[in-house]
Amino acid sequence: MSTSEDYTFVCSACSQSIAVNDAMRQALVENGCAVCGSSVEPEDFEPAEA
Ligand SMILES: [Zn+2]
Repeated sequence: MSTSEDYTFVCSACSQSIAVNDAMRQALVENGCAVCGSSVEPEDFEPAEA
């Protein structure tokens, strides 16, 4: 199977880069950046390359 980390999130406010799965991606969009609390947009995620 694939890894559990399907996206790379890069915060536009604090530049933190975090590998996330789909559930974590949804949580970040709903709750904001886990590091700085800035609002997170779907465009802040890039699909992780194999
Ligand atoms: Zn941040």
